[in-house]
Amino acid sequence: MRRFVPMVFLLAACGGGDAAPRADLVLRGATVYTGEGDGAAQAIAVREGRIVWVGAEADAEAWIDAGTEVRDLTGRVIYPGFVDAHAHFGGIGQRELTLNLEGTDTKDAFLTRLEEAVARTPKGEWVTGRGWIETFWDPPVFPTRHDLDRIAPDHPVLLTRADGHASIANSAALRLAGVTGATPAPPGGAINLDVDGEPTGMLIDRAQALVRRHVPETSTAQLERAMELASERSVRLGWTQVHDMHGSWDEVAMMRRLYDQDRIKVRLYKTISGPGEQADSLIALGPQPPEFDDRFELRAIKIVVDGALGSRGAALLDPYSDDPATLGLITTDTVAVKAMLRAALRGGIQVAGHAIGDRANRLLLDLYGDALAAVPTAERAIAEPRWRNEHSQIVQPADLPRFAELGVIASMQPSHAIGDLHFVPSRIGLDRTAGAYAWHSLLELGVPVAGGSDAPVERGEPMIEFYAAVARKDLQGRDGPGWHPEERVTREQALAMFTRYPAFAAFAEDRAGTIAVGKRADFTILDRDIMVIPEPEILQATNVMTVIGGRIVYDATSGSP
Ligand SMILES: [Zn+2]
Repeated sequence: MRRFVPMVFLLAACGGGDAAPRADLVLRGATVYTGEGDGAAQAIAVREGRIVWVGAEADAEAWIDAGTEVRDLTGRVIYPGFVDAHAHFGGIGQRELTLNLEGTDTKDAFLTRLEEAVARTPKGEWVTGRGWIETFWDPPVFPTRHDLDRIAPDHPVLLTRADGHASIANSAALRLAGVTGATPAPPGGAINLDVDGEPTGMLIDRAQALVRRHVPETSTAQLERAMELASERSVRLGWTQVHDMHGSWDEVAMMRRLYDQDRIKVRLYKTISGPGEQADSLIALGPQPPEFDDRFELRAIKIVVDGALGSRGAALLDPYSDDPATLGLITTDTVAVKAMLRAALRGGIQVAGHAIGDRANRLLLDLYGDALAAVPTAERAIAEPRWRNEHSQIVQPADLPRFAELGVIASMQPSHAIGDLHFVPSRIGLDRTAGAYAWHSLLELGVPVAGGSDAPVERGEPMIEFYAAVARKDLQGRDGPGWHPEERVTREQALAMFTRYPAFAAFAEDRAGTIAVGKRADFTILDRDIMVIPEPEILQATNVMTVIGGRIVYDATSGSP
């Protein structure tokens, strides 16, 4: 499968003969990290969306003629295009479209952002948003409806916590929904009450629906706008591809429409949610050939085996240390999954399974192992199915080698660790942190670790993820017992987590993932060298240009330095 690259290399190398080599785009004057473990390069030539040359500044001139766009990137650093291997694209867009509360590190900042949204919304209309996390606030307590009422007495307000498992509603919203102190909470949900027995406004898990169903439905035009905003945000931050970790055929149709209209610029590796009819129809169709110039690909199913750790929904083998009555939840129909996995192997469809708790991780590995044993290679559409474990979060150390044995890719989100580890030791006990967020152990075992952000659950910024992977400290530089600093990775490993391994996880290592002749011209260009600067400074690194398929889709190089 590597034949393609050397062939194009030969063509490029021969170009110096009678026909002068010419590039559509030349980037020069930069520091180039190719991700191929090589020496220094300063310049890249691109033709028809592919890399045709990478080398020394002095040799760049040969690729330039009157039709070549030349960009001098002196002082900037070029990396292979960063990929977010686990995110929720529509959710990122929704967060942009409504009120984006990510990064509101104080309650005042949170309320100020609400105030701005209220000011631009006509009275009586809903203000909705997502992204706050009270654990950063001082004190770290949930907001109340009274906090919101002071700012929004005349607008119904519903603001969802970053993880999606809780929302705060103001009094106007509770009134519209008819939620009072006497309202029974639905199964799987809670309506938090104050000392007087009145709702605080906090709605947990399934209780959120009591208010959310009164929020006007998002129109198709708004959903399309959300995806457009998600694309704009992604390329601004330097993501060149997003692996979108859930989905329906309706969404696929919408994305195809938006690519057609050039409203989505970032590459998407799309999944369909399973098990069920929607997933079955993808299996029946088989892997879809790359569409829209390789920017959209559909060949994978997403399943969700358990809940999340924050709400004690992650399935554990032994009870929660801070709630001995709880083991968490298996959230999928394992009988249906079993049948689906076998069909997926026969149909050549990749499966990406969400597993957070150690029981869920073991179950997913068992399910994958059973299917791989039941369907021999000769009966598979693709010999190497590259199934993925999304999160691989709390794993029994004994189960870690099974990733390598089964050929399972670990798809992990470093930001989860540096947020969660503040509460994980009390939730599961120090012992069980031994196989938690174990990126380095998995890499040592030879497991490809594809890095992602899980945005909008996390903020979804490449520099936060890269920093978390190498520092394994929170954004303020703190860590603590159970953080396992030995699970930090080197900068080279972190770069691979966001470039080379996601390419492998998308069957694209021959076309993407490093800067090499013949590969896609996808680049993330930063204002500083994250391979050498001090750790805390990584968080200050800024994307200044994003190139996808040789096209500059984001450019801040002409602005202020
Ligand atoms: Zn997710």
